[in-house]
Amino acid sequence: MNMPIIELKSVGKSFRSADGKARSVLEEVNFTLNDGEIVALLGKSGSGKSTMLRIMAGLIPADSGEVLYRQLPLYGPADGISMVFQSFALFPWLTVQKNVELGLEAKGVPLKERAQRAEAAIEMIGLSGFEGALPRELSGGMRQRVGIARALVMEPEVLLMDEAFSALDVLTGERLREDILELWESGKIPTRAILVVSHNIEEAAMMADRILVFASDPGRVRDELPVTLSRPRQVESAEVRELIDKTYGLMTVGGARAGRVIGKEIKLQLGDRLPEAEILSMEGILELLAGEPFNGRADLPMLADESEIDDRELLDVSSALTLLGFVQLDHGDIILNPLGSQYVQASNPERQAIFGQQLLEHVPLISYIHHGLVQDPSGDLHEDMFLNLLRFTLGEMDAKAALRIAIEWGRYGDLFEYIFSTGVLHLPKDEVVEEA
Ligand code: ADP
Ligand code: MG
Repeated sequence: MNMPIIELKSVGKSFRSADGKARSVLEEVNFTLNDGEIVALLGKSGSGKSTMLRIMAGLIPADSGEVLYRQLPLYGPADGISMVFQSFALFPWLTVQKNVELGLEAKGVPLKERAQRAEAAIEMIGLSGFEGALPRELSGGMRQRVGIARALVMEPEVLLMDEAFSALDVLTGERLREDILELWESGKIPTRAILVVSHNIEEAAMMADRILVFASDPGRVRDELPVTLSRPRQVESAEVRELIDKTYGLMTVGGARAGRVIGKEIKLQLGDRLPEAEILSMEGILELLAGEPFNGRADLPMLADESEIDDRELLDVSSALTLLGFVQLDHGDIILNPLGSQYVQASNPERQAIFGQQLLEHVPLISYIHHGLVQDPSGDLHEDMFLNLLRFTLGEMDAKAALRIAIEWGRYGDLFEYIFSTGVLHLPKDEVVEEA
């Protein structure tokens, strides 16, 4: 077995939310990054992946548990560990060359050596000729290359990439990923292990020797999928397609991204997050699924290709549709339920009525809001009431996101109206009349 480079043992971390309460973001995280491997980490946004990476890089301390780097406790940023972020904060007034040199400069590397090393890193990442350019003169893909050169120039033995390709368009992201893999395979970089956080399942399947799936609330490693394929891999090959399918399966049926999976259903509690699914995307997926060539059953990766929405959104949309009883998920396939077919064929007002009915039945937060409005004599309630409720279980950002989704869905389902300027919720007009 290969030597462990970084080990996390029962690592825990909490942050204080706005109301001063501590919220547990990571609990009992156990993970070892070994010499010679590329590991991909997939998981819902907000599940604590970046926090885990920052702990591994020594940028923030863990609250509990142990973090070892080469068998020794990690106390702070280590020379051998570099991190690449999604949006690499380049200094706009510094040239590419100077941006790449920064880390070396901070470490006191002499001018001449740092110029040489920066040049070498810039060449390695394919930016020769752009040493004197300013960040604003570069495309997004090139800027991200500068970000990577900035990490590589430190000759890290561990590279932690936090959604480093996510902000790029698909082709640019793929090209950059291939270049990184080539550097890795060729041994042109001294890097001994790479951890990539991604929300792109194909990316994980193309790169990793192991795929980890992170669970939310609190974040921890939920599943692990060993990969035995050699690199380079062909994205269209049967093996890679199968791996992608398996990973989708793990990320959907294997565990709800919000709420608990019971059989083929997802059950939510009042204080759970809601999947971030827009109505338009949900309807788009249902229609696509109902039509040719899927006729009610689709392989999620194929549906992802066909619909041109990214994995993260597709998983949220699938969770939402499952939650509402329109579809069920089965080993990476999504299957239209009778209610889903009925929905697709319905007129717009009928759709809204079905949607509202399903919300009341399956989304406790929405039925709670609706119930509150029906009970309240004035028929008006301020959103802060519900936000306060959510703050018991969710952090500030997640609480706001959950309420935003509940409001969007509830308005579409004609369960309540929302006044943006005041944050007040009230029943739709016709329902008020009915009650009276
Ligand atoms: P991911 O990378 O999986 O999207 P993060 O690690 O960025 O997740 O965040 C996990 C949770 O921790 C989120 O709810 C986020 O709001 C919270 N969080 C992250 N960093 C901080 C911080 N410095 N202070 C307070 N809360 C934080
Ligand atoms: Mg993150």
